[in-house]
Amino acid sequence: MKQPRNVTALALLAGLVFKVAAGAEPLQAHQQQLRDIYRELVEINTTHSVGDTHAAAEAMAARLRVAGFPSDDIHTFMPEPRKGNLVVHLHGNAKRRPILLLAHLDVVEARREDWSVDPFALVEKDDFFYGRGSGDDKAMAAIFIANLIRYREEGYVPERDIIVALTSDEETGGGMGVPWLLANHRDLIDAELALNEGGGGAYRGGKNLYNAVQASEKIYYDYRLEVHNKGGHSSLPIKDNAITRLAQGLSKLGAYDFPVHLDEVNRAYFQRMAGMVEGQVAVDMREMTRPKPDPAAIRRLAGANPNYNARLRTTCVATMLDGGHAPNALPQRAGAIVNCRVMPGETEASLKTTLVKVLDDDQISITPTDLEYLPSPPSPLTPELMGAVEKVTAEMWPGLTILPIMSTGATDSRYLRDAGIAAYGTSGMFYDIDDNRAHGRDERIRVSSLYDGQEYLYRLVKLLAGASSK
Ligand SMILES: [Zn+2]
Repeated sequence: MKQPRNVTALALLAGLVFKVAAGAEPLQAHQQQLRDIYRELVEINTTHSVGDTHAAAEAMAARLRVAGFPSDDIHTFMPEPRKGNLVVHLHGNAKRRPILLLAHLDVVEARREDWSVDPFALVEKDDFFYGRGSGDDKAMAAIFIANLIRYREEGYVPERDIIVALTSDEETGGGMGVPWLLANHRDLIDAELALNEGGGGAYRGGKNLYNAVQASEKIYYDYRLEVHNKGGHSSLPIKDNAITRLAQGLSKLGAYDFPVHLDEVNRAYFQRMAGMVEGQVAVDMREMTRPKPDPAAIRRLAGANPNYNARLRTTCVATMLDGGHAPNALPQRAGAIVNCRVMPGETEASLKTTLVKVLDDDQISITPTDLEYLPSPPSPLTPELMGAVEKVTAEMWPGLTILPIMSTGATDSRYLRDAGIAAYGTSGMFYDIDDNRAHGRDERIRVSSLYDGQEYLYRLVKLLAGASSK
């Protein structure tokens, strides 16, 4: 007798489920809070040219105060005009040393005329968030703040302090962010381990490929090579010519391959990657996990992809060239910049020794142009860290490969590692492996990636910070 009404109710319910499946699901309260914080951060211009990371740091501090964090636990610093840093503590019961959650507030320049949308307005369109910093690195910054507020609302008391630091000057290579905090307020950010950018997931065509954990990065170091000569009239050349000598040295360097140097992170990378590629490349990658890989396999792998080569060895490549002073004069000077990307753990002394040996010409001077050589040792892939990553990954994306990686570029983790704080890049946010827009036009991330990253980091940090005593 009530059947007709039930049918109607079922039909209504079916319609509702359909709407939910079609993406009309309302955000949960903590997701809405993240979205608000994220919008605010993206819409504060934090470029080096005209932006203001201090304004962004103060905006986040204001949100934390409203959420009930004591003023004593919120610190903002402005080491230079328009350069700001925020440090906030959620206190635990101090059974273990703190965990630091690091994200940078500054973004790469973005010109409105280059973009299809306003880079400094958060645009949600076609299942993506668009905006400068939407991926690099304001998603992580917003997630860390939103999750810290969520932990506090829950009354969560971790076994160790959770410190969030949002910093400036990452993209510029300036020193007002992490290096400044380490030099001036080390006590506020001192931690046993840190989570930062540099890792994350990758997808292709809607299929997740892996969840990467960055545990090391190459060391950036530049040299200037120079050859001097007395010169003369170009109608009377002699064989000893500054340009020719430099060119011969650079040719030798171009032909040279640094020895293979595989550490724990890169061995694990090739071992896991072997399961995701096919044919000879897979065979050669497995060979890299042996103590002494076959040189033929090394050659094939290095030649297959510059990305594989960069994970096998140090590289030094000529990037700039200058010399001579007139079309009709013998050059008195020729110079070049050589950019080295050094395997973590190698010393500057051994790098220089290799360059001297390869160039094999005492007339070519080799002078570093960088003030600092940061050795930044790899962070160990500890059972605690990797176990937590594996657990949360298995919960959220069953069966997905976890890929330890060394970054060939640089993040602020290098300063932390150099200071003895183990640092890991992991975010739970997935990016299109064929469409990297970080630093480029129309930077974007999938809407679902932001909320997945929030959930992933919420669970991961809780695992690493220990259970609530409540
Ligand atoms: Zn970044």
